[in-house]
Amino acid sequence: MFIKKDIRSLNLDELKAEFVEMGEKGFRAAQVYKWVASGCENFDDMSNISKTLRENLKDKYFIPTVKIVKKLKSNLDETVKYLYELHDGETIESVLMKYNHGYTVCISTQVGCRMGCSFCASGLNGLFRNLLPSEMLAQVMMAGKDNNIRVSNIVLMGMGEPLDNFDNVKKFLELVSDPEGLGIGYRHISLSTSGVVPGIYKLAQLNLPITLSISLHAPFDSIRSDMMKVNRRWNIDELLTACRDYQKVTGRRISFEYAMIKGKNDTDECATQLAKILKGILCHVNLIPVNPVKENDYEKSDRKALQNFADKLCGLGINTTVRRTLGGDIDASCGQLRRKFEEKGGEKNEDLQ
Ligand code: SAH
Ligand code: SF4
Repeated sequence: MFIKKDIRSLNLDELKAEFVEMGEKGFRAAQVYKWVASGCENFDDMSNISKTLRENLKDKYFIPTVKIVKKLKSNLDETVKYLYELHDGETIESVLMKYNHGYTVCISTQVGCRMGCSFCASGLNGLFRNLLPSEMLAQVMMAGKDNNIRVSNIVLMGMGEPLDNFDNVKKFLELVSDPEGLGIGYRHISLSTSGVVPGIYKLAQLNLPITLSISLHAPFDSIRSDMMKVNRRWNIDELLTACRDYQKVTGRRISFEYAMIKGKNDTDECATQLAKILKGILCHVNLIPVNPVKENDYEKSDRKALQNFADKLCGLGINTTVRRTLGGDIDASCGQLRRKFEEKGGEKNEDLQ
C-alpha cells in the first residue's frame, strides 16, 4: 500500500500550493514540476534541487512509472507493443505506431474494462482499477524513451473505457498537453469511447479540440446491443444525439470506428442504415476488419465485403477509409497481449526481437 503521494498527477498550481504548505518557494515547485513532467523518474536526478529538498520530496512523494515486462516488435511494420507492469503489479498494454506524420502512442486508461464488448479481449475479466493520470503519462514517456523518439500523437484506444475514468483522463489531457511537460497538443490527441453518453456531454463541456472517436460497430440497436452491452444502457439514437451535441459545441469532426465482422455487421443493409443515421454529422468512418479473439467466433469480413461496404458508404456521401491494420502479427488489438500473459500465469518469457 502506497502512503506516498503521486507527484506526477499534480499540475503546477497544485504542486505550488503543496510547496507553499511545506514552506518551500514557488519557483522550486516550478523546477520540480518541469523535471517530473518531462519524464524524470528519480528525485536524485533533479540536479538543480538541493539534497535536503530532494530527501523531503522522497519522503512525501513517489513518481509512478511503468516497467517493460514484454515488448513485441512487428515484422510487418514498425509497430511496437508493450506490456507494462504498474507499481502494484497490475499489467497494461500500449502500442507505438509509426505513421508518415510521426509517432503515435495508443495508451490504456484502465486495467481491464467493465463494458464487456463481445469482440474485445480487454473486457473479458471486467475492470480491475482505473489508471492514474501519471500512469497514462508514463506510457507516453516510456514509448518515447525506449525508442529515442518524440511522440507526436496520442490515441486513448488501449485497454479501458476512457469516459468511465473521466476525471483522471481529463487531468491526463491537461498534463500531457502542457508545454512545460510533453507538450502534445489537444489537436494531436484522439479519445475513443464505446458510447458512455453522459461522458460525451461532459467532454463537450470541456470544449477541448481533441478528436472524439466513437466505437459504433453496428447501425441497428439489435446488433449493437448484442455486441456491446453499453448499447442496452444508451442506444444508438441517444449516442448520436450526444455526438451532435459534441459537434455543435466543439465544431470537431467525429470519427466512427466500425469493426467489420463477417455475416454480422457487414451487409449492404447495414451500410445503407449506417449512412442514414450518420447523415448530417460531420464525420469520418474507419472500417477495420475485426481482430478475432479466441473467446468468440467472430471472423474478419473478407476483402470484397469490406470494399463493397466502403464503396456503398462513400456513394451515400459518407467519408470512409478502410483502416490499415498495424501490428497484425503481434496481438496489437486492445487487451490481447495482456490476456495471453495473464493466462500463462504471468510468466515473464521475454521473446524480444
Ligand atoms: N473503450 C474504448 C477505447 C478502447 S477500445 C472504446 O471501446 O472505444 C479501442 C478500439 O478497439 C475500439 O474502437 C474497439 O471497439 C476496438 N476493438 C476492440 N477489440 C477489437 C477487436 N477484436 N477487433 C477490432 N477492433 C477492436
Ligand atoms: Fe472496453 Fe472498449 Fe474493449 Fe468495449 S471495446 S470492452 S469499451 S476496451
